[in-house]
Order: sequence, then C-alpha cells, then structure tokens
Amino acid sequence: MTLEIDALTHQYGTEPAVDDVSFELEEGELVAILGPSGCGKTTIVQAIAGHVSPTAGRVLLRDGDVTTLPPEERQVGVVFQESTLFPHMTVGENVAYGLAAQNVDVDRRDSVVDDYLALVDLSAQRDAYPAELSGGQRRRVELARALAPEPDVLLLDEPLSALDRTLRERLREEIARIQRETGVTTLFVTHDQEEAMALADRLVVMNDGHVAGIGSPRRLYESPPTPFVASFLGRSNTFSATVCKRQPPTLALEGNGVRGEVTLANSSVDAAVGETVTCHVRPSDLAVDSSNSAESPLTGEVDHVADLGRRYDVTVRLEVGQELVVAQTSPPPSVGDVVGLDLSPGKLTIFETSHEEHAG
Ligand code: ATP
Repeated sequence: MTLEIDALTHQYGTEPAVDDVSFELEEGELVAILGPSGCGKTTIVQAIAGHVSPTAGRVLLRDGDVTTLPPEERQVGVVFQESTLFPHMTVGENVAYGLAAQNVDVDRRDSVVDDYLALVDLSAQRDAYPAELSGGQRRRVELARALAPEPDVLLLDEPLSALDRTLRERLREEIARIQRETGVTTLFVTHDQEEAMALADRLVVMNDGHVAGIGSPRRLYESPPTPFVASFLGRSNTFSATVCKRQPPTLALEGNGVRGEVTLANSSVDAAVGETVTCHVRPSDLAVDSSNSAESPLTGEVDHVADLGRRYDVTVRLEVGQELVVAQTSPPPSVGDVVGLDLSPGKLTIFETSHEEHAG
C-alpha cells in the first residue's frame, strides 16, 4: 500500500462533502476517482495534499499517518486543472522549484531537471517562459514539476479538462506512458467516464460524497455493484423480477415478462427465493430472438426502433411498462411485434438491495 484513505469525512458546512470514504492505492497503480461534479473528488485530493484538514478519518502515505502534516512535509506531487506555473520563471526553473524546496544541490538539480524535461519531451523548451508554450506543453511542464521531487504519490485533479478533445486524448496517452515509465503511484481525478476507463487500473466511482463502487474498469462495467455505477459507466437497462429458483451462478426469474434461467455476472450476490430483485444488463448484451421461440427469458412488445447507422436501438416494453433497449446490427423487428429477448450468458447483474439507497 502506498496511499490509504481511511474513513475520510469532510464537512464544509452542515452537509458532508465527503462521507466515510475508504480506498487504497498499491505501489505503481494508476487509480481514477470518477464521479459527477460536486461528488467530493477535489476535497479528497485536497485532504491528501494537505490543503484541507478532514473532519474525520485518516490519510496514510508510505511512511505513515500524514493527516495532520502540512503540505510541504508530504511526499505528494499535484497537478490541478488550472495552470499553477510561475509565469516569471523559465520552464527549467519551474521544474527545479520543488527540488530547491528539498535543498537538492544545484548540480544534481540541473541533471534531474534535464531528466524530467526529456521524459515529457520538452528538453528544447528549457529556457522558454510558460506564456511562450502551447496549452499541452504547459501541462507537460506541470507534470515534470510534480514528478521531479519523486513523490510517493502523484495527484492529477482534472488535468485535461481545460483542453480541447483532440489534445486531451493525446495527452491522456502521454500520461499513461509517463506513469508506466516512472512507475509512480497515481491518483487521477476526472468526471469523464471514457478518460477514467482508458487510463486506470482501477476506478473509485463516487456519488454524492460516497463511494459507489471500486474495481477494475471492466469489472465495474460488466458487473456494476449499484444502479449509479451502472448508469455512470455506460448505457444501462434495469428491470425487476422475482427469484423463483437459485443455483449460483444461475437464477430462475419470473414476473414482468421475465421467465426462465439466467446466468449472473455477480454470482456471489445473495438473493433469496421469493425476493423481488433489480436486474441490470447492457443494451449490447441483449438480442432480439428472431426465431421468436418461447425459450427467451424476456418477452415484450417493440415500442420504438432508432436507426443509428452503425446499429439499431430497439426499445422493448416489458409487461409492467419497464423498457429495455437492445443494441443490434442485424435488421430490427417492427414496432408492435411481440418479441423474445435473449441475454448473453453471464452478463446479467443483480443489485444488492442495500446499495440502492445511494443510487443517483
Ligand atoms: P467538481 O468536479 O465540480 O470540482 P468535485 O467532485 O471535485 O466537483 P468537490 O469540489 O470536492 O467536488 O465538492 C464537494 C462538495 O463540497 C460540493 O457540494 C461543493 O459545493 C462543496 N465545496 C467544495 N469546496 C467548498 C468550500 N471551500 N466551501 C464550501 N463548500 C465547498
């Protein structure tokens, strides 16, 4: 463990902005905190960097509990959304700044600055001033400045949000490369689901001050623990049904146009026979059964077909009015048809009831 957030709570006013948040970063990991605006991401970063003194809980860095240490005594590098480069200093002087604060001698400082400017591919700009650089180059100088003191943890708080889309995607790859080459443990904060999934080894998905889910991008996408995670990571279908037989990972469901056995993505879930559960499946894991056999676990009436060029979105209404979207490339059925829907095996998730209170 390089960084541990332990039961962190922070209140600015009466409502907690961050409420009992815990997670850990292993050495060399790149973890993204992902969540909508105002869910508490920046507050967590500020508590790790030492700019916010949390109401409760602890921040542990490699050497122990740093919760009450001032920022300069923590081995943490930070890049914020807005530029914090010193405009009157050259690129080289900016990168050397953190090293001077650590009393690194001048010769060594020079060679470290050389190394980090080479890492971010800005050796030729060493004597330029920030105003002479492009937006993307300035971001790379900030990365070099944050990395030069070799922090235990690198915190990147929405570092790409102010850039246009093309540059954002290019710099995203740069950050991935630099993180791989340095092996620095990194916490990346973003509200952009694609950015988080493309970069991170693991995601901490947040909603309204709480952790809504932690795991690898693929696991959270395929088997979301909460309705909020399901909808925040991509298009999501939910429907309710009653459990009539249970033999993990298979479950027999009935009611609301649902009848039959399904294989779960989260076979550990504890759903009792007779319980009404909320099920989740991605549109691409559903298929209209063109043979219209009675074997399909879901049945409903086609309500709407959208032709999106590369695929069709077929909206099917189940018995009690719940609608499911099927994404398919094959020719769609007609509006009004009663169709069966097949599920890709192992792609259905059942939400644990206790999580639903945090749903967004
Ligand atoms: P954003 O992406 O918009 O910055 P965020 O997920 O980083 O959002 P925070 O900035 O941590 O969220 O804010 C969490 C909550 O705390 C929000 O409701 C915000 O309005 C509130 N908040 C943040 N900073 C302060 C402050 N200095 N004083 C009072 N309330 C604050």
